[in-house]
Amino acid sequence: MNLITIKNYIFPSTLEEAYGHLISNKNATLIGGGAFIRMGSKNISTAIDLSKCGLNSINELKESIEIGAMVTLGEIEASPILNKNFNNMLSNSVKEIVGVQLRNIATVGATVYSKYGFSDFNTALMVLDTKVKLYKGGIIPLEAFMAEKVASKDILQSIIIKSKYKNVSFKSMRNSRGDYAILNIAVSKNPTIKIAVGARPGRAVLAYNTMEYISNYGVNNKNLKDIYDIISNEIVFGSNSRGSSQYRQAICKVLLKKALLEVGYLEA
Ligand SMILES: Cc1cc2nc3c(=O)[nH]c(=O)nc-3n(C[C@H](O)[C@H](O)[C@H](O)COP(=O)(O)OP(=O)(O)OC[C@H]3O[C@@H](n4cnc5c(N)ncnc54)[C@H](O)[C@@H]3O)c2cc1C
Repeated sequence: MNLITIKNYIFPSTLEEAYGHLISNKNATLIGGGAFIRMGSKNISTAIDLSKCGLNSINELKESIEIGAMVTLGEIEASPILNKNFNNMLSNSVKEIVGVQLRNIATVGATVYSKYGFSDFNTALMVLDTKVKLYKGGIIPLEAFMAEKVASKDILQSIIIKSKYKNVSFKSMRNSRGDYAILNIAVSKNPTIKIAVGARPGRAVLAYNTMEYISNYGVNNKNLKDIYDIISNEIVFGSNSRGSSQYRQAICKVLLKKALLEVGYLEA
């Protein structure tokens, strides 16, 4: 049985206050939507609920879009600003996650900060020009942030994405609706190519060798097999109850081809 015990539950109104509690209490824990935390057991001395810190909006700036940490995946799915700028890709990346109720609770900040291997949203963000804004750590590219271990004492304030990345695609494969993805892939061509593979089941990574090959030689029906070989060799696929590494490798080729077709690298 999962059991969460919380001694104090607080609603700071500034990030300064929230951070002060986070570093001064050993078992203090930030609460985004609280959906994932309640899946496990934990003794929390101080639960720091970020819902009153003003982090719940999506703002269109001159050349970028800033998404507050407390924006929910449901709001990502429905946002006209995001759909217009990224051709519905962020919406597509979250719309299969469990159900409406969960998506209306689960937050962007927790999803990105926790770097969940199964995350669909993080894979999509990797092929955009995304930066992470941390209260203490400052603004860093998502790619660098994802490569680090999860740090426990900072607050993700927002993510900042360069606007107008329209030639993008997100594909995933699940055994059934509501389950975690067996694999997911995102591709952007803007104008250079970016390819991210997630739910491997490890966290999303960029396929650098494959990106370099495609930048140099493009994609056609003759070199597709070489591209499959390159991506299969550079991405580490693992096994779990949802699929073996060999299965994931096979799925990767299918999803990659679909995404390349969608961004116009290949003709059907
Ligand atoms: C049953 C279930 C199924 C799911 N299936 C999928 C799926 O198929 N695909 C998918 O992509 N996702 C899935 N998710 C994950 C979901 O999309 C969210 O990523 C997850 O719920 C975390 O969001 P939250 O707001 O609930 O986090 P919380 O439970 O509030 O927090 C999770 C962790 O993040 C920390 N945290 C919260 N906010 C911040 C912040 N601003 N800065 C730093 N740390 C913070 C918390 O302290 C905690 O350690 C699933 C979640 C659940 C509960």
